[in-house]
Amino acid sequence: MIIYKTETVEEEIFDKFICDRCKKEVFGVMELQEAYTIRIIGGYASVFGDGCKVACDLCQQCLKELISDFCIYNADEKEENYDT
Ligand SMILES: [Zn+2]
Repeated sequence: MIIYKTETVEEEIFDKFICDRCKKEVFGVMELQEAYTIRIIGGYASVFGDGCKVACDLCQQCLKELISDFCIYNADEKEENYDT
């Protein structure tokens, strides 16, 4: 016989997205879809350090300000496959 019981479990759930650069809270489904989360672990030759955990959350405005000078983007080429 298996007997079940009920217990309350605490878990972390999404509450807010706050940009690490401008500190603004990102509101709304459409804006949240365009917010960016970076999670990497530095490798042996990493500028951050071997095994260093790097975490950064950015709103789309800050991402554009940071990389638009050198990134490649073209609004006319939608749905481009970057895997090939
Ligand atoms: Zn921002």
